[in-house]
Order: sequence, then C-alpha cells, then structure tokens
Amino acid sequence: MSELTGKHGLIVGVANKRSIAWAIAKAAADAGARLALTFQGERLEENVRELAADLDSPLVLPCDVTSDQQIADVMASVEREFGGLDFLVHGAAFAPREELTAPFIQTSREGFRVALDVSAYSLVALTRAAAPLMASRGGGSVLTLTYLGSERVFENYNVMGVAKAALEASVRYLAGELGPQNIRVNAISAGPIKTLAAAGIGGFSRILQVYRERAPLRRNTETAEVADAARFLLGTAGRGITGEILIVDGGYHIMGI
Ligand code: NAP
Repeated sequence: MSELTGKHGLIVGVANKRSIAWAIAKAAADAGARLALTFQGERLEENVRELAADLDSPLVLPCDVTSDQQIADVMASVEREFGGLDFLVHGAAFAPREELTAPFIQTSREGFRVALDVSAYSLVALTRAAAPLMASRGGGSVLTLTYLGSERVFENYNVMGVAKAALEASVRYLAGELGPQNIRVNAISAGPIKTLAAAGIGGFSRILQVYRERAPLRRNTETAEVADAARFLLGTAGRGITGEILIVDGGYHIMGI
C-alpha cells in the first residue's frame, strides 16, 4: 500500500504541466491519493482538465482564490465527493507585471494589495475553509510554496518578496493555532524553476544561471525534487513537522561568498 492510499487532497495552483503544483499532484497521486484540482478562470480550465485526465477519478473545480464564495463552493464539493480532506496544497501566487519590473520603491498601493491578497491571504482563507474537513478526519496537512526572496533581496522580485514574507509568517501562525487539531501547516521554499509565474520576473534566466554556478549541488532545482519533498511533508513521514519552511534549492541559501 502506498503512503497516501485512501487520502484525499486538494491542489490549488495548477496552470500547466510545468506548474510546481502539478508535479506535487502527480507525486501525491502516485502515492495513492485521490485529488481535487482547481483552475483559475476559463482560460486555464482546458489545460487543467487535460492534465487531470491522467489522474484516477479527479475532481476539477473553478477557484479564484480572491473569492470567498468560490473557496466555499470548492470545499462544499470536496466534502460532498470526498467526505473530508486530508491535505491541501497551495500554489497560487500573483503580482501585476509592472510591479516586477519597476523599482520596488514604485510599488503601487493596488499592486501591493493584489500581490498580498492572492499570494498570502489566500492561504489563510483556504486553510480556514479546509480546517473543518480536515478535523473531521482527525487531522490534516497544509503545504504552500515560497521563495527565498522573502528574506533576501532579489532583483525584480519586489512586492512578491513582501508577499512571501507574509505567507511564511502566516504558515507559522496557522501552524500554531491548528496544531491542537492535528493539522500541520508547512511551506517548501523552492529554488528558481522556469514556470509560467517565473516568466513574469525580469532577468529570471540570469537568476537560474547564478543558482547553477553557486548552489552546492551545481544545478537548478527540478519540480520533481520539490514534489518529493512535498510528498514527505504531506504524508505520515512528516507527521512531526509543522510551522516549517523547508528549503529545496540545491543548498543555494547556505552559501556566503
Ligand atoms: P505557475 O505554474 O504559474 O503557478 C502559479 C499559479 O497561481 C497559477 O496556476 C496561477 O494561475 C495561480 N493563480 C494566480 N492568481 C490566482 C488566483 N487569483 N486564484 C487562483 N489561482 C491563481 O507557477 P509556479 O512557479 O508553479 O508557482 C507555484 C508557486 O510556487 C507560487 O506560489 C510561486 O510563487 C512558488 N514558487 C515558484 C518558484 C519558481 O521559481 N517557479 C520558486 C519558489 C516558489 P494563472 O496562471 O491564471 O495566474
């Protein structure tokens, strides 16, 4: 029997086959989980439905994470179909393109609000909605995705770095509150990976190159490496870990000069 056999998971943040959330979905499905995948808006529906066709009896649901109503509808469908929830993967993030090219000091009030809403508050909203479904199973595991730009300055990462700092603090506060219900909340801080979201960050290819040159493992992070770490945190092997930011970046973050 595989590690996640009999478990049900909700995966938010699949845009296409390069999405980190999709790699995690595949790893969780390979480990035996049944999944619900969400898509943001009609533009991505076909993509996500095509990918989901590879999974065993998936649920595919719309969810714009800025809408409390859509979040409530997703959880109602999950409860109806799965009768509860064992894990949630949160891989949604967004900042308006101009905020990732202009100097950080030019960040607009609206750009700041949108980036923090989609990329950080959504974890709080989704976790609040998922918690009763997890509690009914005797506990659960929530996992989000973050980046080292939360602590260090990376050119052009700008307001997304601020959003990731808020996201990581939210992981700790949620973990502190939900631990007594046996609900764990963690994040994986991934090294840079060429995805749709990454394409919006100016100079991304150079960031990839610097990581390849300086990371102890001398290569870029692969989505499969993030997915394997995710499977560990989602399953029973990670049962003692909560409130943690696990860095999967080939060791880049330990290096000085
Ligand atoms: P991705 O494939 O573009 O995934 C980002 C997802 O967020 C997309 O599905 C996107 O949909 C979704 N999203 C944006 N706004 C949303 C909204 N309002 N409601 C629901 N979903 C929304 O890129 P990714 O790199 O795999 O990103 C996944 C996570 O990993 C993000 O949190 C990202 O910050 C994090 N991360 C990425 C890297 C990297 O280098 N790629 C490194 C560390 C951490 P749309 O396409 O419609 O906007």
